[in-house]
Formats: sequence, structure tokens, C-alpha cells
Amino acid sequence: MNKTTSEQNKIRSVGQLLREIVFGAEDGMVSTLGAITGIAIGSGDQYTILLSGCVIIAVESISMGIGSYLSNRSFNEVTQKVVDDEKVQLKKFPREEEKELYSMFLRDGWEKDLAFKMAQSASFNKKLMLKEHEYRELGIFPNQNQQPIQNAFFMFISYIIGGTLPIISYLFFPISMAIYFSVALTLMGLFCLGALTTLFTNAKPIKVGLRLVLMGGFSFIVGLLVGNVFSMMK
Ligand SMILES: [Zn+2]
Repeated sequence: MNKTTSEQNKIRSVGQLLREIVFGAEDGMVSTLGAITGIAIGSGDQYTILLSGCVIIAVESISMGIGSYLSNRSFNEVTQKVVDDEKVQLKKFPREEEKELYSMFLRDGWEKDLAFKMAQSASFNKKLMLKEHEYRELGIFPNQNQQPIQNAFFMFISYIIGGTLPIISYLFFPISMAIYFSVALTLMGLFCLGALTTLFTNAKPIKVGLRLVLMGGFSFIVGLLVGNVFSMMK
């Protein structure tokens, strides 16, 4: 494996994992916080709160993991179909595909003579021909495949960790206090999650942290409002 390939692999897996972790942990924190706060206010009973918290996390983490697995598989399958179709085209219409490659080289800025030579040379090499068509025509890059099982696992674990944050306070404090601690701890968790992602990006930690707090906070507030409207109609 040469340096470029391992570099590509690294970018690909960090990108994929970061997406799953942010998605899982954010959803775990926000949806559990919303549900648990509503249940805390409505029931006022510690056992009910903890029980429903655990049920929510169990169901949701598995469901999100499965969702991640399925969507990543579909992504790979769609990509595979497009590549297979292109293979058929290359086999059926080699001359046309060579011309197509020539015009794509021109489009990308290569000189005419060179473009012609490259297209011709590629037409003698099946693998290269497919690779060029994948890249220039279909926008598919080598090693673009998603890792469904690995991604699902990270989604699952991230959801559990995220979902645990809003619940912890209810183990140690009376409900009236735990509600505030739970909200504060979850908002802090959202901030840290956002800030930590900047270890892998060039974004500013505080900015990304606040972005997660604002967005998570927004959905939490909407949840509270909906809950209030319903309780007023009772
Ligand atoms: Zn083509």
C-alpha cells in the first residue's frame, strides 16, 4: 500500500467514523434529554424516569445502529450498481467510451494531443479505463466504500454514551434538582462533542461546540413547548 492510498484510507475512515459518532452521540443526548425531561415533569417518579431512560436508550441505540448499517449498505450497493453498469458500457461500446474519456480529459483541461494519447492508452487497459470513467464520469473515487458494520458499531456505542448523560443526574439527585443538572450536563456534553470533532478538522472548537449546543438546545426547547401545549389542552 503506497502512501497516497493509506492517506486516502485514513481520510475516508476518520470521516465516516466522525459522522457516525456525531450523529449517534448528538441524537442520544438530545432525544433522551427531551424524553426524560418530559417524563420527569409528567411522572415525578424516579423509578419511572430511570426505567424509561434505559428503555429509550436500548431501543434507540439498536435502531440507530441498524439504520446506519442499512443506509451504508444501500450506499455501497447503489455505487456498485453504477460501476457495474459502466463496466457493461465499456465492454459494449469501447470506441464510444474511449471518445468519451478523450472529451472528459479535454473538459478537465488536458491538452488535445495528450488527451488523445491518454484516452488511447487507457483503452488498452481495462482496469485503468474503468478507474478513469469512475472518477471522471461518475465521480466515484477509489476506496469510497462505506464500512457498514464498523459504522453501525460506532453509531450504537455513541448513542449509548450520549444517551446516558441526561440520565445520570436522576440517580443521585432529587427530581426537582436533577432536571436542571441533567439539562446542564447534556448541554456541556454537546459542547464537548462539538469541540472534540475539531481535533480532526480545522474548525474552531468553541464555534463548533456552541453550534451543537444551540441546535441541540433548539430541539429540546421545541420538545418542551409541544409538551406544554399538550398539557394545557388537558
Ligand atoms: Zn463512460
